[in-house]
Amino acid sequence: MQREFWTAEYWRLALVLFGGIVGGSITGLWLVSFVIVLLVYIGWLLFKLRELHHWLEKGSKSSLVPDSSGIWEQINYHIQKTQKLSVHRKRKTGKVLKRFQGIITSLPYATVVLTGNNEIDWANKNSAKLLKLDLKKDRGQRIENLIRRPDVHKLLDKNKEKEIEISSPYDEQKKLALQLIPIQGDLKLLIARDISERVHLQQMRKNFIANASHELRTPLTVIAGYLEIMRNEEQLPEHLQTAVKAASEQSARMQNIIEDLLTLSRLENSELNAKQTQPLDITRIVINLCHDEKTITDNSHPINLDQLDASIQLNGEEAEIISLCQNLIHNAVRYTPDGTEINVIWEKLHNGSARFSVIDRGEGIPLEHLSHLTERFYRVDKGRSQDSGGTGLGLAIVQHIAQRHNASLSIDSEVGKGSKFEVIFPADRIINTSR
Ligand code: ADP
Repeated sequence: MQREFWTAEYWRLALVLFGGIVGGSITGLWLVSFVIVLLVYIGWLLFKLRELHHWLEKGSKSSLVPDSSGIWEQINYHIQKTQKLSVHRKRKTGKVLKRFQGIITSLPYATVVLTGNNEIDWANKNSAKLLKLDLKKDRGQRIENLIRRPDVHKLLDKNKEKEIEISSPYDEQKKLALQLIPIQGDLKLLIARDISERVHLQQMRKNFIANASHELRTPLTVIAGYLEIMRNEEQLPEHLQTAVKAASEQSARMQNIIEDLLTLSRLENSELNAKQTQPLDITRIVINLCHDEKTITDNSHPINLDQLDASIQLNGEEAEIISLCQNLIHNAVRYTPDGTEINVIWEKLHNGSARFSVIDRGEGIPLEHLSHLTERFYRVDKGRSQDSGGTGLGLAIVQHIAQRHNASLSIDSEVGKGSKFEVIFPADRIINTSR
């Protein structure tokens, strides 16, 4: 087929040359004849090129395709074919794009595409509802100028996938979860979800626990008081002595649980403010606590305090930090066999932060339990925890206190070797007294 078109073109050229020969033989002016026929041929080629250019310029519509034959017809045919293919591809891509846009637009979340400078590039319909963004007006605006919240600044600065919870900038009652997801290049996706209902339910749960604990505290104190009086009563019949002793122990346990629940509610329902904090000498706190622990446990465990760095202090809330240290040391004593050593370490880290660690050489905790230990009432061995007076709330309290001090709690354990509980406090909470 291709060859046929070229054959037509060769014939055309041969005809031109034949014209030159005829002209030359009639006039005897061979060169002039050839120049004239070649000029005519070039002129014709230029005309065809002009026609093609003109057609392409007009959008190469099939209705305007120039009348042609030979290789020119073939060129026009290929141009039209490529064009049809690209129109088809464009339509297909357009459809896919529309479908994706439709999906993103109808997501129940506000989805905003941000440039590297945090300027709004695109936003879906729900962004208008949740973040009050108007794409026509706000495109190109910096998102921080529209959602003025310090947390949002921090989220954008960090520029990594993370979620924060904020009150809606337009309605304090509405709670939003914002998530920043880096996408290709320096583009980012900001996703906002309405979590008001979840937060409301959480608050209801917290209030219920706080109220129930509060309501139970007074009657329980009275019951515990009477039981204590009965226990000390010398004339108490012998058959009742065991019952009163057991009831008294159980009411003491319940009192501990209620106190821990109230502590948790207080930690959950309020923010730690700077006025509540002060420089704390962790070394002194730990030494005092270990003295208590030793009296409680009858010197059952050697506690190594050689690695307490007295030159660093922690800016924290005293009662909370004492409770954090106490819970961790107490657990190490309670859940490890007598005679095994416990290491308590308070040390500076290279980046200015400081680490408080309690390391024991007990039985350790199987891996599957580690991520659940800070859940309320989660115990690895329920019987053992209750026997040792545990409430199942100690590590939940530690976790909350750590969070309130912007610290992180990590738990590492190996069955048969022991456990390590670490709390790392950020550099801005550490005071270096050696300088
Ligand atoms: P509890 O009041 O029961 O001690 P916690 O929240 O303090 O509650 O601890 C949760 C559970 O974690 C405990 O019941 C215990 O099974 C386990 N645990 C905590 N510390 C240790 C430890 N040092 N060694 C082994 N198990 C531990």
